[in-house]
Amino acid sequence: MTFAATVLTLYPAMFPGPLGVSLAGRALGEGRWSLDAVNIRDFATDRHRSVDDTPAGGGAGMVLRADVVAAALDSVGGRRPVLAMTPRGRPLTQARVRDLAGGPGAIVLCGRFEGFDERLFDARAIEEASIGDYVLSGGEMGALVLLDACVRLLPGVMGAASSGVDESFESGLLEYPHYTRPQMWEGREIPQVLRSGDHAKIAAWRKHRAEVDTRLRRPDLWERHVGVRVGSPSGARRHEDDA
Ligand code: SAH
Repeated sequence: MTFAATVLTLYPAMFPGPLGVSLAGRALGEGRWSLDAVNIRDFATDRHRSVDDTPAGGGAGMVLRADVVAAALDSVGGRRPVLAMTPRGRPLTQARVRDLAGGPGAIVLCGRFEGFDERLFDARAIEEASIGDYVLSGGEMGALVLLDACVRLLPGVMGAASSGVDESFESGLLEYPHYTRPQMWEGREIPQVLRSGDHAKIAAWRKHRAEVDTRLRRPDLWERHVGVRVGSPSGARRHEDDA
């Protein structure tokens, strides 16, 4: 089964964009996933082909019309999760990405202007997703981020590296630091333990560094990690699900 992505956007020319090169691009060429960009404007009904209108109650900007966006969404076939990129959405996590990557694909709605008419979310089953606490000019970059994160997890896309158990967030921790040749650079050496050939010692060092780095850089992740390990059984289960 290939991962089928459909993006609804006012700017279909932004796709595949960066997803057309490197790992994702090669996988796209190999048919490991598919990408369709649907132009929301094709579903406008008036002669000006308008997709937006002024906000009810006044104020700056324009709002995407529910009727036009819903018509675009309803035209898309296939039973797949529908995600709308919104800054107020649930922050995207590696766990959600892994879940999506294991499914049939995703339909991704990209906002513009002030965003969508709220009634869209009442009338359709749509999951709102945010890529972080900052505001983009449109949902397209968010959709690219979401799809990139999914595609690299698809079977055969990354080879052995994609098992990714060590990777940041997969275990609830950040990843340990990496080094490569030259062994000495600007007077700085690769840590001795990594050159020791002692796999148990290397694993212990990496685990320790992952823990220290997470505690110092991301106390929020660390709290959750520690809480989950020593906490309630339900917490432990949730942690398993995330991994
Ligand atoms: N008025 C909105 C911002 C609209 S930004 C507000 O204040 O919340 C225009 C579009 O960019 C949004 O509809 C959404 O699709 C996209 N966007 C902006 N920031 C985003 C984020 N952090 N995550 C996901 N999508 C975002």
